[in-house]
Amino acid sequence: MATIIKHYRSWGRFPKSTPKQVIPVQWRSELPDFNAIEGTVLPFGYGRTYGDVCLNNGGTLLDTTFLNRMLAFDEENGIVCVEAGVSLEDIVSFIVPRGWFLPVTPGTKYVSVAGAIANDVHGKNHHSAGTFGCFVTRFELVRSSGERLICSPDENTELFKATIGGLGLTGLITWAEFRLKPIPSRLIDVERIRFENLGEFYEIDDESVEDYEYTVSWVDAMATGEHLARGVYMRGRHFDPPLPSNGHLSLPEVRVPFDLPSVLLNKFTLKAMSSGFYGLNFRKESRSIEHINPYFYPLDSIKDWNKGYGTRGFLQYQFCVPDKDRKAVREISKTIANSGEGVFLTVFKRFGDLESPGMLSFPRPGITYALDFPNTPTLENLLSRLDDMVLEAGGRLYPAKDARMSARHFQAFYPNWQEFARYVDPKFSSSFWRRVTGETAC
Ligand SMILES: Cc1cc2nc3c(=O)[nH]c(=O)nc-3n(C[C@H](O)[C@H](O)[C@H](O)COP(=O)(O)OP(=O)(O)OC[C@H]3O[C@@H](n4cnc5c(N)ncnc54)[C@H](O)[C@@H]3O)c2cc1C
Repeated sequence: MATIIKHYRSWGRFPKSTPKQVIPVQWRSELPDFNAIEGTVLPFGYGRTYGDVCLNNGGTLLDTTFLNRMLAFDEENGIVCVEAGVSLEDIVSFIVPRGWFLPVTPGTKYVSVAGAIANDVHGKNHHSAGTFGCFVTRFELVRSSGERLICSPDENTELFKATIGGLGLTGLITWAEFRLKPIPSRLIDVERIRFENLGEFYEIDDESVEDYEYTVSWVDAMATGEHLARGVYMRGRHFDPPLPSNGHLSLPEVRVPFDLPSVLLNKFTLKAMSSGFYGLNFRKESRSIEHINPYFYPLDSIKDWNKGYGTRGFLQYQFCVPDKDRKAVREISKTIANSGEGVFLTVFKRFGDLESPGMLSFPRPGITYALDFPNTPTLENLLSRLDDMVLEAGGRLYPAKDARMSARHFQAFYPNWQEFARYVDPKFSSSFWRRVTGETAC
């Protein structure tokens, strides 16, 4: 089998990691003998994970993007079956013209189906639909023992639950089947409402979550005082009745062609950009009909935008906290705003209480915050403080976005991690897993 030696990075470009080798997985019927490979193995999709969940420093990566064949489509009932490396982009292009859409989608479609399962991704409709894993009907999991297991809610149930949100550690998914959602058109009816502070956010959110399928906010996380956590609330639903539309499924691409010097992204430029976004939405409220692509995947039109953070890379910090008394959300927002660290692209959203089948799935009812920080030498001071605040508030960090949480924090955030560990394949490991469990590579 051919071996490609090249750099496989995660989206945040931090931490740096070098696999010993990368093995392309081309055919479901001709998988490598995992046990014949020296050291540990880890599946790799499109590397859209921000931190080290998709990295296996010193070990082997199994590049699954060649497993890119569509296997079956039940157009009447909206069920699709695809190989593990098929991207959400390919699925969206195929299903949207046929009146179907993804039941749950992350903010990029350059993600493989198996990657979406392994991180049990969520989208703007978490409060109304739950996670991607809620729609998975079955998949094939290949273990290092050579076993090929069909996992579903009724078959190999425990491995099904462990693999959804299982961070690629329970074996190799070769194909997966999941349910789609019918849509009346390829358009979304979107309302944008500016809010001046956290209190206003809650007012709008309380009146929106019941009636709007999709809700998300962009927050100016550097605003302080009476403008703490000001931002723009976006709520949407599929547009019905359909308009005649010859909508294109791809946007013109803007590319960041080279690494910008990190010095261009400092707390002053980020503050200007952050409040600039807020200011751009100059009207208090606006309404528009938008195509699915720019609505769900605004960043996909800027190719390689992650290079904008320079060679030091950046860290996304995403957590969720229960917000019954709203105090924790306020205190954490204050700590971020007053920290002096630059932050851009802050996404703020309410998670609902629909439970995911995944043992290690991230979402819990409450508020989730996702913040992009340039990787500065002082950033760790703030993040370790936030780790403690999130823990104290009964929240947790998202492994898919993480590159630095301590083993102590991970184990407290995910108290069932030892139960999960029973299903980890002995041959599979990742840089993330070794960091948060203290295990060494075999
Ligand atoms: C711009 C942007 C926006 C995003 N928005 C969201 C969002 O809104 N919500 C959200 O939840 N996430 C979001 N993400 C994160 C992204 O959806 C996840 O990290 C996703 O898992 C990446 O999939 P991938 O195919 O790139 O997999 P990779 O990043 O390559 O790998 C992810 C995990 O999947 C495992 N894996 C890959 N293939 C297989 C396989 N065949 N079998 C078993 N395990 C496998 C890997 O081992 C790894 O643990 C976003 C990322 C970006 C860059």
